[in-house]
Amino acid sequence: MTASSSYVKQLDEALAFINAANKFLVVSHVQPDGDAISSTVTVGWLLQKLGKSAVLINEGELPSRLSYLYQFDQIINYKQAPPEESFDAIIAVDCADYKRIGEVASCFASGSKLLNIDHHPTNNAFGAVNVIHAEAAATVEILFDLIERAELTLDLDCATAIYTGLLTDTGGFRYSNTSPRVMAIASRLLEVGVSGNQLADHLLEKMTMAKLKLLQTALSRLTFTENLEIGWVYIGKDDLKETGAVSEDLEGIVNYALNVDGVEVGILFKEAEDGSIKASLRSAGKANVAQIAQSFGGGGHIRAAGCRLEGPMQEATLQLVEAVRKALI
Ligand code: 5GP
Ligand code: MN
Repeated sequence: MTASSSYVKQLDEALAFINAANKFLVVSHVQPDGDAISSTVTVGWLLQKLGKSAVLINEGELPSRLSYLYQFDQIINYKQAPPEESFDAIIAVDCADYKRIGEVASCFASGSKLLNIDHHPTNNAFGAVNVIHAEAAATVEILFDLIERAELTLDLDCATAIYTGLLTDTGGFRYSNTSPRVMAIASRLLEVGVSGNQLADHLLEKMTMAKLKLLQTALSRLTFTENLEIGWVYIGKDDLKETGAVSEDLEGIVNYALNVDGVEVGILFKEAEDGSIKASLRSAGKANVAQIAQSFGGGGHIRAAGCRLEGPMQEATLQLVEAVRKALI
């Protein structure tokens, strides 16, 4: 590992945190993506190898397309089955801030200690111990380093999870976070036996008919500013019901707004059950969307970020598009 000494020190602090307790609650962010769930199961794997016990949890429903992941079926859906016990040692992965943990935070014991492992530059170091490494393409990249530092040997279960997080957070090894190191790690994982082509096909190419219908609806609503610099699309709460699509099917839709020639920022607005609006922002490079999202209480990366706005949809759209317009001047 060629890494800065402060990063290595953080990894050692993380291992000391793990050494100091026997039982952990492992949580990732609300509405989890590929990196969030892969990181959850990878930490579960690591804890198991170190002889610790782990309860894996997420606030809500899990993306079913990730069901092949090691111990995926062990991850508790908090909304469905909140644990009765509370936990003293917490490991949060891929959560840019405390809020992103969601309702799961209510099963943290008072005085509990939290290890925060994340790659978002906007992470505000909310843990007692923090491993924040914005150079990592995905949180699983940090976990790869942690596993190496703990001198554990990768197996196919763990390698498949790490590959999944890298694949999804780099958009199939295409985004600007696809560093030489990402490719070197991916190469190691392929050597362990990961089926890269099958994962890419399953996660990035194949889709359900319901998702295709949702995409049709979304595309029919694409809207652009006069100068074509900002493109956006909205999905109302009835759209999912009408098409039979689920939350995870929204992933990737924002790229249709971004990928049109000349567009600098693409936005997906999604209306939640409670009427609030979740916005996903993507930048072609000119605008720092992490900063824009942060000004609305959200966060993320320079080129991919998110935030929550109050409804109704039209007002949320006006507000955010205006903020993006200003950022592009
Ligand atoms: P997405 O738009 O795919 O939900 O998220 C894009 C990136 O922004 C991800 O790295 C995600 O973790 C982050 N992000 C999305 N929504 C929020 C939010 O409400 N708060 C923060 N801090 N980060 C977010
Ligand atoms: Mn991530």
